Amino acid sequence: MDSCIFCKIISGQIPARKVYEDELVVAIEDIAPVAPVHLLIFPRRHIVNSLDLHPENNALIGHIFQVAAHLAKERGVADKGFRIVNNNNADAGQSVFHIHFHLLAGRHFNWPPG
Ligand code: AMP
Repeated sequence: MDSCIFCKIISGQIPARKVYEDELVVAIEDIAPVAPVHLLIFPRRHIVNSLDLHPENNALIGHIFQVAAHLAKERGVADKGFRIVNNNNADAGQSVFHIHFHLLAGRHFNWPPG
């Protein structure tokens, strides 16, 4: 999608600190981290958010969680704890409308979230 910032990162039009990529997904360092580990994992395919998912995307979402677990282990935070966050629309604070999953770790997170 032409105006999408994550599509532009995928195509190389906008620079990003890529930490992982495969045929289905890309993971980058968040430009404004809110935790010592703050990565974003998103599919190469432009999907707006969870409301735009279809049964054929089920394996993709499972894959994203496996990539998140892999990255948590790689960063050494898996055992201590990490959070995977997916914001959908305004009240949740979604600001980039290309589905993505935040991998947050390296500090204690409160519950309920703010
Ligand atoms: P959300 O608010 O859930 O839509 O998350 C979007 C995230 O994308 C925010 O945490 C932003 O800091 C991050 N972000 C926006 N633009 C970029 C960029 N060019 N490179 C890396 N992260 C970005």
